[in-house]
Amino acid sequence: MNKEYDLIIVGSGAGGATVASRLAPLAKQGVRIALLEAGPHFSNRYFTQREIEMFDLFYDRGAWPTADGAVTVSFGKAVGGSTLMYTGVTFRLPDDVCRQWGVEGLTPEDLAPRFARLEKEVNVMTPGPEMVNENNRLFRKGCEALDLPVKDIQLNLDGCEQMGFCNLGCVRHHKQGTAAVQVPQAVAAGVELVPNCEVRRIAGHTLEATVKSTPPGTEPGPWSPGEYRISARQIVLAGGTVGSTALLLRSGFERELPALGKYVTIHPAMTVYGIHPQKVEAFRGFPKVYYTDAFSEKEGFYLETAFYYPFITAKNTALWGTELTHVMQRYDRLMGIIILAHDEALATNRIRLDSKGLPQLKYQLSERSIEALCDGQRRASRIFFAAGCEQVVMPNARQILFGPNATDELDSFISPRHFLPNKTPIASAHLQGGCRMGQGPEDSVCDSRGRVHGHPHLFVADGSLFPQSAHVNPYLTIMALADRVAEGMVA
Ligand SMILES: Cc1cc2nc3c(=O)[nH]c(=O)nc-3n(C[C@H](O)[C@H](O)[C@H](O)COP(=O)(O)OP(=O)(O)OC[C@H]3O[C@@H](n4cnc5c(N)ncnc54)[C@H](O)[C@@H]3O)c2cc1C
Repeated sequence: MNKEYDLIIVGSGAGGATVASRLAPLAKQGVRIALLEAGPHFSNRYFTQREIEMFDLFYDRGAWPTADGAVTVSFGKAVGGSTLMYTGVTFRLPDDVCRQWGVEGLTPEDLAPRFARLEKEVNVMTPGPEMVNENNRLFRKGCEALDLPVKDIQLNLDGCEQMGFCNLGCVRHHKQGTAAVQVPQAVAAGVELVPNCEVRRIAGHTLEATVKSTPPGTEPGPWSPGEYRISARQIVLAGGTVGSTALLLRSGFERELPALGKYVTIHPAMTVYGIHPQKVEAFRGFPKVYYTDAFSEKEGFYLETAFYYPFITAKNTALWGTELTHVMQRYDRLMGIIILAHDEALATNRIRLDSKGLPQLKYQLSERSIEALCDGQRRASRIFFAAGCEQVVMPNARQILFGPNATDELDSFISPRHFLPNKTPIASAHLQGGCRMGQGPEDSVCDSRGRVHGHPHLFVADGSLFPQSAHVNPYLTIMALADRVAEGMVA
């Protein structure tokens, strides 16, 4: 079947839906715009808060492994993209990181008004005291006992009812991700939303796509299942680091753009636990309201409060048998902290295609990241014990489950010597790079406004544009870059 549009946007996550909402006024004037999304359109009715059922929201059911199986990477495949299951932790790109990126015209001064506007649109707020659950209160207590600065995490929420487990989708759409804000805005203005529509290839101005049938319980789209050839005057790719990069690789762009797929960063993360003598019930309330950046500049990581559902928690412990049973039986007494390492952009960390044309992430943790994650475990242990925990779970310790006696020798007790690839549970939910911005096609894929080098009608507007890691949770920066891309297109 053939279709014709003025503008096609591929992907409805942080980047794609922001472009759609920015260009939506053109749709009101008669410009034909479609927003194609590979994933289903899950509505609020779909969310059950049960982890096994809600893994449908994710690509590859939420545990896409790197090529060597050492890191599990999660991202969304749904209307709303990864903003459907994100937590809503909101950071502006730090000014020093923006300057290090060295992208022409992309300055803190350029970004500041975009951040301010976006923060209003997606309702970024500072959580009040009523949102501090016991896990967060104890984190603050532990940090303060150690003289560590504790900061409020900004969140984009509206009317949060603190039902917990935000990463399984918000039952009431209180999280102000793109499925709640930008997609409805764009659709109301006349942008056509097409769920279950996966774009396979691009050749010139033509996209080849497959529309699958609507999964039970999700909202139907306007196109019937089948194969489509869609022509468009302008095309915006916003499939995320994996989706956009794989699409360009499958379409043969690697020959002219050797940087395609390279310099992927992931903020490698570990969630670690302390066992408190009293009930913490970290699964109640909002999971994240505090962080400390005390170790960002020198050691290269952030510590944020965090808590996840039982299966993910069991995986994060790296324990088996009686020790795992011991910890999981105390699930209601667990404190949780996530260590997010900054990561380095290396050409060898890259998206490539396997023999079936499916994307693969070839990624190896740098020595610096491993050291940062071990240091994070030492710091988190001290915070847990200062908050009153009786035992902690640190996958890179000589003995994973240990009590406060070990704190005198923590530097040798938790060490890269105990870092066993594929045995240490590393996860990532922050994919960045793959179609990085830069000066020219020798070492980048897009210019500073997201235009693919040498292809005036083709743009990228998602996390794949990042030339290096953002150090902080990335969604707001992705939206700000998408805003720049849309602005450039209009101009
Ligand atoms: C569990 C979890 C928690 C997170 N928490 C936070 C947080 O608190 N704060 C924060 O800043 N960030 C968070 N993130 C990360 C953040 O959500 C992502 O960085 C951001 O959404 C990425 O935006 P994007 O536009 O690059 O891609 P996405 O938002 O992932 O959207 C890409 C979309 O494109 C679609 N697509 C891909 N390929 C195709 C194709 N070929 N055809 C059609 N459609 C396609 C995908 O299905 C997907 O829906 C979290 C992520 C996860 C998974």
